[in-house]
Amino acid sequence: MMNLAPLDLRHGERFGSLTVLRKLPSGKYRCGCICGYSDVKVRANALMRGRVKFCRRCAKDRVSAKGNTKEKI
Ligand SMILES: [Zn+2]
Repeated sequence: MMNLAPLDLRHGERFGSLTVLRKLPSGKYRCGCICGYSDVKVRANALMRGRVKFCRRCAKDRVSAKGNTKEKI
């Protein structure tokens, strides 16, 4: 089988702090974060492009730690 479909992620694949748990009917993936939050729903595209690397809680922590500065992640 050719592996040209980039939108299929495997269970257990890691993106930053997120680990893919399973694909949802909506096409998004449910991921678990290293902080313990395991209900992160995110599109495969966002994961693969590195747009999403944390759950919202972690992302918020990172932003607040840096004030208003938008950090490139
Ligand atoms: Zn987190």
